Amino acid sequence: MGKQTAVITGGAGFLGSHLADRLIKEGLKVICIDNLITGNIDNLAHLFGNEDFQFIKHDVTNYIHVPGEIDYILHFASPASPIDYLKLPIQTLKVGSLGTHKVLGLAKEKNARFLLASTSEVYGDPAIHPQKEDYWGNVNPIGPRGVYDEAKRFAEAITMAYHRYHGVETRIVRIFNTYGPRMRLNDGRALPAFVSQALNNEDITVFGDGSQTRSFCYVSDLVDGIFRLLMSDEVNPVNIGNPEEITIMQFAEEVRKLTGSKSKIITKPLPEDDPKVRQPDISKARAVLGWEPKVDRSEGLRTTLDYFQNKLNRK
Ligand code: UDP
Repeated sequence: MGKQTAVITGGAGFLGSHLADRLIKEGLKVICIDNLITGNIDNLAHLFGNEDFQFIKHDVTNYIHVPGEIDYILHFASPASPIDYLKLPIQTLKVGSLGTHKVLGLAKEKNARFLLASTSEVYGDPAIHPQKEDYWGNVNPIGPRGVYDEAKRFAEAITMAYHRYHGVETRIVRIFNTYGPRMRLNDGRALPAFVSQALNNEDITVFGDGSQTRSFCYVSDLVDGIFRLLMSDEVNPVNIGNPEEITIMQFAEEVRKLTGSKSKIITKPLPEDDPKVRQPDISKARAVLGWEPKVDRSEGLRTTLDYFQNKLNRK
């Protein structure tokens, strides 16, 4: 039997490129599709020349043609950091809605299993803590983050509709904050911002009073959870993330200590609708996928810091 084929939309992004590596390692052929507005082809440079790998530059909000058989489609195309989706609000809405529709159409046509990259942002600024999959969320539809949150909520809805009405095999992963090599230093997220500020001895900018919390998952753990979900029978959404919760102020202090930086930590205004708390309840992933994170923050941060340091030195 020939190798199975997976398509990854957003394949040149942080998560898409790590998934491409994992699926090739699992013996699949991988086709990455990306329009490169926030993705970076350098993330895939090591795969060019590999006969199991192919890259197509394309915007998935337009009709997608991929010749041949496809077994799996992982839909990861979307701006995903808050400053990206604030800069690209219409593209974010389009890729979550029109893009998800097109990619589901491709899955239906090819009889492929479809996995949607959803997000903890579907829970908004949560009134339930930690967040369990059966919580419906607290999202401001007209706030600045609404372009991402509502696009992903729509994406979940249309995914379930294609499953119920067209019988497409679908999976939905709700991804919580993730970090690791191949994040963009300038993507505006807390970790890359703190690291680049610390390494350049600039002030570290904590938004608000830093008492808001997040729970950070190392990328290899996340990819493993997604792979297990893809291979499972679970149709309803599954949270994948690391439940170890930390305040953003503590996180800034950890980064400063790890880098040995003399940077001052200063505060800046909190962005509108910034969630006050976030922590995944992963009991479903544990029970259904036999999954839980393995890499603790000190180990993950050290590896990520090495990556960022190399990037900065090469500039
Ligand atoms: N944050 C911060 N300083 C920065 C960037 C982000 O204090 O330079 C805060 C942000 O307000 C949020 C948290 O760090 O409370 C995580 O932000 P990020 O952009 O990484 O992702 P989010 O979890 O908000 O989607």
